[in-house]
Amino acid sequence: MKPAAFEYHIPDSVSEATRLLAELPEAELMAGNQSLGIAMSNRVATPDHIIDINGLTELDYLDIGDKKIEIGAMVRHRDMEKSSALTEAFPILSISAGKIAGPVVRNRGTLGGSIGEADPGGNYPSVLVAMGGEIELLSTDHTRTVDATDYFTADTTDSINENELIKCARFSKKPFPSHRTGMAFLRKKEAAQSWPIVSVASAVRVADPTHQNPVIEEARVGYANASDVPLRLQSVEAAIEGEPISEQTLRTAGERAYDEVQPQSELHADETYKRELACELTKRVFRRSYDRATAEPIVV
Ligand SMILES: Cc1cc2nc3c(=O)[nH]c(=O)nc-3n(C[C@H](O)[C@H](O)[C@H](O)COP(=O)(O)OP(=O)(O)OC[C@H]3O[C@@H](n4cnc5c(N)ncnc54)[C@H](O)[C@@H]3O)c2cc1C
Repeated sequence: MKPAAFEYHIPDSVSEATRLLAELPEAELMAGNQSLGIAMSNRVATPDHIIDINGLTELDYLDIGDKKIEIGAMVRHRDMEKSSALTEAFPILSISAGKIAGPVVRNRGTLGGSIGEADPGGNYPSVLVAMGGEIELLSTDHTRTVDATDYFTADTTDSINENELIKCARFSKKPFPSHRTGMAFLRKKEAAQSWPIVSVASAVRVADPTHQNPVIEEARVGYANASDVPLRLQSVEAAIEGEPISEQTLRTAGERAYDEVQPQSELHADETYKRELACELTKRVFRRSYDRATAEPIVV
């Protein structure tokens, strides 16, 4: 099937894009077109107007500071995966970007498109909720910032108004100093190009990485495709906080994840299997984060 007819607009600035959005309420923004294109080809989406934002270099930036990490909406998955500065400062973003589909999707797909799509199985949504990220939205007459946990709702169309554009996502670096933090992202999927059955993102900050078995001061965990929203589970985090990692704390964390995720059965995985995956991936992702937090720094 081919897409239904539409008018094509190429704004040359963000302000022109928001003006077009305000004037054309039935319009869709087109970023990497990796999801929109499929929806339009199947006529699940039939917008009258397409606003192509690929030329908006204002939205294509990585701002990596000591206090915050800000990523523009038009940054491609591939650029996040390959950025050594991002890998060093906030590796969970580079790792999760590198685990999206295959290179073709990663070369074109963008952070803003993924947030705009707001799929509960998406890699960034679970990272955003786990890491306390926020999303900045722009229109012709306002700018507003929304916590990721408020942005991702079961009805994804609630979170963003028709006249708004995603400008960037932002994370506070303060709780995650690089020398005491380890981050990881694990998933189980059917094939290289498919979406994960379940994925888990985590970060662990330890008290003293030079200590042999340091205490975990703070843990974060987020699940994708384990509910109708990306899910942060604080009771699972609490299971490993306040002491060094151990088989017992990992087991408790895994059991809590099994009980508290809210997955739905689908073609390749029933509800019980998804709970089992959440349990096992939780144990592994925390172990990997902890090992990274306590690894010797590489001296060059
Ligand atoms: C085969 C395949 C496998 C995939 N596997 C995964 C996976 O494992 N994990 C994962 O996370 N993703 C996966 N994806 C999705 C991929 O990450 C997409 O690139 C992404 O979801 C959409 O990004 P895009 O830039 O292509 O957006 P588009 O397809 O261009 O747009 C998607 C939606 O977002 C809106 N939008 C785009 N930019 C903005 C903006 N700045 N402000 C407001 N709204 C905006 C659009 O209007 C549209 O409604 C997969 C996709 C494919 C095709």
